[in-house]
Amino acid sequence: MAFELPQLSYAYDALEPVIDAKTMEIHHTKHHQAYTDKLNDAVKSSGLETKSIEELLSNVSSYSAAVRNNGGGFYNHNLYWEIMTPGGASQPEGDLLNAINDSFESVNKFKDAFTQAALTRFGSGWAWLVKQGDSLVISSTPNQDNPLMDVADVKGTPILGIDVWEHAYYLKYQNKRPDYVEAFWKVINWDEVAKRFKG
Ligand code: MN
Repeated sequence: MAFELPQLSYAYDALEPVIDAKTMEIHHTKHHQAYTDKLNDAVKSSGLETKSIEELLSNVSSYSAAVRNNGGGFYNHNLYWEIMTPGGASQPEGDLLNAINDSFESVNKFKDAFTQAALTRFGSGWAWLVKQGDSLVISSTPNQDNPLMDVADVKGTPILGIDVWEHAYYLKYQNKRPDYVEAFWKVINWDEVAKRFKG
């Protein structure tokens, strides 16, 4: 069974002005499509067609670089589209808010730490909010790695992630990654993050 590019639940221009329609369209139809296609090629040539994406990622050190890079790219973008929404929710609430306060003292301190992780990731990669049991930690990974991979420094379940590859922001923000990261907070789908936190 082949992996499939997911449909987005909103239009390419729905995240304007935070993320422009052209960036969304290219990111989804070119970049994410390419990760999906190359993942299918990689699992086919390795005899791994029966594995789920989670199984592939949790044992990724056993597989080819093509599985690692494209499996990560496939999974990470699936998450990225889902944790953004037009309008966004105002703030994290309930159990998720409690966990953020317990782990980082306050939402503002969490925001600062997550932003720092996104800005200090050198080159291409991701910053993550990661669930480890009942607590939360922040990490960042290079390339298309993520916290589900056995090769990750910080392991756990990613519940929020920001793509800091230049392809995610360069058309609108050029070299100003800090402006993109700041604007990202306006489109976070906190309901989806809470759902992933609950598991
Ligand atoms: Mn990307």
